[in-house]
Amino acid sequence: MTTPTRQATTPCPCCRQPKARSLYLCSLCWGTLPGLTRRALSRRDSKAMDRLQELHRQLAAGRPLAEIQVTP
Ligand SMILES: [Zn+2]
Repeated sequence: MTTPTRQATTPCPCCRQPKARSLYLCSLCWGTLPGLTRRALSRRDSKAMDRLQELHRQLAAGRPLAEIQVTP
């Protein structure tokens, strides 16, 4: 059985450290992303889901965080 209060965190898709559910990455990984990528990912518009998928695709491909780019 799972406790609802323990679900406030999820593992970071990059380093597997626990992070807040509302964040895409833990603060350490987030800080490693290029500024332009961070800014694009922070925007909550109709393309937000596409950008998240681009991020996850590149993480899955083993691309270094500092080189990840998403649709601006
Ligand atoms: Zn991380």
